[in-house]
Amino acid sequence: MSFEPFLLTPIPDHDKIDVYLKHGGYTALSKVLKERTPEEVTQEVINSGLRGRGGAGFPTGRKWSFIPKDTDRPIYLCVNADESEPGTFKDRELMLKHPHMLIEGAVITAYAIKCNRAFIYIRGEFATEAHQLERAIAEATEKGFVGKNILGSGFDLEITIYRGGGAYICGEETALMTSLEGGKGYPRLKPPFPAVSGLYLSPTIINNVETICNIPHIMNRGAEWFKSMGTEKSTGSKIFCVSGHVNKPGNYELPMGISLRELLYEYAGGIKNDRNLKVVIPGGSSVPILTADKVDVKMDFESLVEAGSMLGSAGVIVMDETTCIVHAAYVISRFYQHESCGQCSPCRQGTLWMYRILDRIEHGKGKMEDIDLLLDICNNIEGNTICPLGDASVPAVRSSIKYFRDEYEYHIKNKKCLVQLDQRFE
Ligand code: SF4
Repeated sequence: MSFEPFLLTPIPDHDKIDVYLKHGGYTALSKVLKERTPEEVTQEVINSGLRGRGGAGFPTGRKWSFIPKDTDRPIYLCVNADESEPGTFKDRELMLKHPHMLIEGAVITAYAIKCNRAFIYIRGEFATEAHQLERAIAEATEKGFVGKNILGSGFDLEITIYRGGGAYICGEETALMTSLEGGKGYPRLKPPFPAVSGLYLSPTIINNVETICNIPHIMNRGAEWFKSMGTEKSTGSKIFCVSGHVNKPGNYELPMGISLRELLYEYAGGIKNDRNLKVVIPGGSSVPILTADKVDVKMDFESLVEAGSMLGSAGVIVMDETTCIVHAAYVISRFYQHESCGQCSPCRQGTLWMYRILDRIEHGKGKMEDIDLLLDICNNIEGNTICPLGDASVPAVRSSIKYFRDEYEYHIKNKKCLVQLDQRFE
């Protein structure tokens, strides 16, 4: 397939402003400020069909259009760089290798939503990436792309890097804002939605790093170009983060709608040691697993839902035939019980109970009724929590039981693993 990555472009030293400028960097910003109104920029993004790349897939331009037209409060932009979903590592590469693409996209976005103050909320552990962004913002400010009266247009934008405290929940948009305000990273109930009442109770747009990086390209090449890639409802390219039992794990930017088979076998080098594929989690640990018979599914928002999973953050976690599915569910449940902020009881208690039950099954102390008990807990968490973390803890457990109940039963009955027969628990 002939496709030229434009986000993960292989240009060396693309993080330096001179190299970025030499390859057409900041031309989109310059054109936008000279030739387009904020409304025209928003309309172009709506026309492109760009959808959020952080996981939810909400149409980006439409989100921007929700900012109240008559507000007298300051409008804020928060770039969500708190990338923490297990199996997802694309934003990190973008910030490290292409920081100016993110900055240019952020300035154009801020112009479109009439915002003069932007924050990049970056995961606390990403120290190198935070320094890289700070350096790039200083370069961009010196050249007049950030700051007061950008390129003589009269438009001002200040960008602040804010390093998070290292909690998964701070990637949830309302928790991100609470954290940015100086509070504990507790999610808030919606509505009100951030576009109406967000950071400091002002209209706020929160967009993911990859989403923002698409903006300069859409403004330079147009909505029709963007729509020429991908599928009708999932337009453009997507960075797929492939990890696990493949020969060449890594980030692959490809058109939306590429088949999982092509992604795994043509780009990621196939399954390690020529083993058979067992399952794939296609969108980070918060989505249901797909069994190997679904390997021809197209990797886009709609096709993955039809196949029983979700695109999520496109963190593609690959497991081969030697993987114990009970162990995989146990590891994932440990993550969610650790990351639950504890605000609401179905999530606080439910994630802990799931973890404890999986722990005893995993270690040869499970009871047969534990399997249905797990499903019962899933049902009681789902839809009953303040934020999506509760819901996100359910799919791996529920889908692993749906497809591999026999492995659970074998564990409980024989106190050893069906797949890894040499692994005994007592
Ligand atoms: Fe906190 Fe979990 Fe409730 Fe979200 S669902 S607010 S993480 S306890």
